[in-house]
Amino acid sequence: MANKDRKELVIIGAGPGGYAAAFHAADLGIKVTLIDPEVNPGGVCLYRGCIPSKALLHLAKTKEEAMHASKWGMKFEEPKIDIKRVASWKEKVVKKLTEGLGQLSKARNIEYIQGKAKFTGKNELEVTDNKGKTSDLSFEKVIIATGSSAVGLPELEIDHENIWDATDALELKEIPKKMLVVGGGYIGLELGSVYAALGTKVSIAEMTPGFLPGTDRDLVKVFEKNEPFKNVFFETKVEKVKITKKGVKVSLKGKKEEQNKKFDCVLVAVGRKPNTQNLGLKKLGISANEKGFLEVDNKRRTKLEHVFAIGDITGEPMLAHKASHEGRIAAEVTAGKKGAGYDPKVIPAIVFTNPELAWCGLTEEEANEKDVKVVKFPWSASGRAVAIGENTGLTKLLIDKETEVILGGAVAGKNAGSLIPEIALAIEMGSTASDLSLTIHPHPTLSETIMESAELFYGDATHYKKS
Ligand code: NAD
Repeated sequence: MANKDRKELVIIGAGPGGYAAAFHAADLGIKVTLIDPEVNPGGVCLYRGCIPSKALLHLAKTKEEAMHASKWGMKFEEPKIDIKRVASWKEKVVKKLTEGLGQLSKARNIEYIQGKAKFTGKNELEVTDNKGKTSDLSFEKVIIATGSSAVGLPELEIDHENIWDATDALELKEIPKKMLVVGGGYIGLELGSVYAALGTKVSIAEMTPGFLPGTDRDLVKVFEKNEPFKNVFFETKVEKVKITKKGVKVSLKGKKEEQNKKFDCVLVAVGRKPNTQNLGLKKLGISANEKGFLEVDNKRRTKLEHVFAIGDITGEPMLAHKASHEGRIAAEVTAGKKGAGYDPKVIPAIVFTNPELAWCGLTEEEANEKDVKVVKFPWSASGRAVAIGENTGLTKLLIDKETEVILGGAVAGKNAGSLIPEIALAIEMGSTASDLSLTIHPHPTLSETIMESAELFYGDATHYKKS
């Protein structure tokens, strides 16, 4: 192909990493070609992940709050769920947002190609559209942003309508009476909570001794006080599965015993793997590491000068906001912006259950007791939290004893996900406990729990005295 036909920058994958990179690169004056199998940008996050699940979790929270209100003297009847309308509302949310991204892409004169890309050379690739037709193109630079997909389990690798992954669960075809969720991580807890709110009796089988392995145990304890599940089996794996006329027969192997249980369906949520296979990476001249990730430097550049990679394919944590940030950095580097580089101090994480769990930076497990002071402010001491029935929540800060610099934070409770960015900003800016304690926080808000946690570092918070 003649050089004049070469695309200046090709971005493969239009999820939160790819479209953020494409939009920013176009705004910086680069001619961008964005390739993705979907009709509009959005990726797993918008079509089959973050956004539809949050729409459904909103429904779950609405129901839980309405049911809870009887304690405060307002009694609602048990809601009637119209699954078809719920599904169509969720579809509307997805359509509105993905079409909006399509318009934003057009407004930036981005060339959007619907199809799957595979490298055929160092500067060449082939795109296959959804009818199987192929076309070739060549490029100067490329950003690979192909994301991740669900990991299966050998025992559950059965192509059957009653064995679900997150995508199947989000389709909302039916409300099963009894569901087993394998995996008590992000997806298991979020989608398990959705189905529990829809009326399904949800059981969880988690391999480790608790929910969300690796997450602050104080946060997990807050979730456990409110969890909506019928049964929880820790240190348990699925040993055997049999599809019967009446559903799915599962044998669960725990530490002490093995038990057989029947469910209408099984949702597998045991992690995700990077989409670095079937991309023709060998022809491009790079390879994934033993875990399937592409290795990149702080410019998000692979070992090849003209090849960049961002998002889930570059390693943990596999989070949309990390991918978007990396996308904007890679766009700036390809545009030749000096000083552009990936250097975050923290990447906040949120589990959008009810209550929400959010954290960033140093965790208590990682902290060295000698150097770090951990302060915890219980929400039972927050006027706003008590007024909205959120007494079980918790805000926690990890602070360097000597320099008083904020190193980490964690929040469990309503809107924890919207509170954690204040702590992330404090860490990014190198703020101290006094910066937070001397910032006037509006009353009565849940944000005061961050200010009062910082006050605790100095010994006395207005609304809490440790006995
Ligand atoms: P995860 O890693 O969060 O959880 C998987 C869970 O499955 C773990 O608790 C693990 O111990 C357990 N497990 C593994 N093998 C098992 C087995 N054989 N039997 C029983 N349990 C087993 O993975 P996920 O929930 O599938 O989510 C994947 C990724 O997607 C997350 O790591 C996260 O990066 C991302 N995600 C993020 C959000 C969010 O930001 N709110 C939401 C959903 C997904």
